[in-house]
Amino acid sequence: MQIAIDGPSGAGKSSVAKAVAARLGIVYVDTGALYRTVGYYVRSRGVSRTDTDGIVACLPQISIEVRYENGAQHVYLNGEDLGDRIREPEISMYASAVSAIPAVRAFLLDTQRDIAAKNSVIMDGRDIGTVILPHADVKIFMTASDEARAERRTLELKAKGMDVRFEDVLREMRERDDNDRNREVAPAVAADDAVLLDNSGMTVEESADAVLALVREKGCVPS
Ligand code: C5P
Repeated sequence: MQIAIDGPSGAGKSSVAKAVAARLGIVYVDTGALYRTVGYYVRSRGVSRTDTDGIVACLPQISIEVRYENGAQHVYLNGEDLGDRIREPEISMYASAVSAIPAVRAFLLDTQRDIAAKNSVIMDGRDIGTVILPHADVKIFMTASDEARAERRTLELKAKGMDVRFEDVLREMRERDDNDRNREVAPAVAADDAVLLDNSGMTVEESADAVLALVREKGCVPS
């Protein structure tokens, strides 16, 4: 089974996808973590996020491995699990910058498709329904108002102990969404056959129920 969830940042994709994965007993794949890991490495080498050649030159030095430990995804960069360090706002901006480079997307393609080839998955990102899993059984484009998304992101980062302000999160989120939507390669747009789910005002459980209803509708699990 392949379920693709795309949409802008803070739409609740990861929380909802995790809940659905647990209910269906399938693997949750957070593809943003892969771009964040590349962004983290690039930043750690002191390369600017506007230096495309410098970013591409980093790729041969990067080895990324995805492991599942007690059902949770861990991404290893050259053998090291970076944990929440990839969640820092600065790394979000790096992830968005590196993700616009075709060589970076090509570098991460096989990792994503290999996981989907070996497991039933619910995968979240920006181009899952359009590029990574074009034949997914269910495709959802999840979104919510800018304010609702920034509010969720702010709470999430604060819960991780980060000192962030709503206004900064909202501004950076809009900048990142704009980059992601308007890039030439794999722009963050809904696939033609995706179902739009606006979950402003919905809880994670309500959004997960909506996704599960779609999965059942497609006949992927018994109702
Ligand atoms: O989902 P998350 O916010 O962790 O993703 C970080 C960044 O990685 C996004 O802003 C986007 O630029 C990039 N990304 C992408 N394609 C994906 C997943 C994430 O371009 N499938």
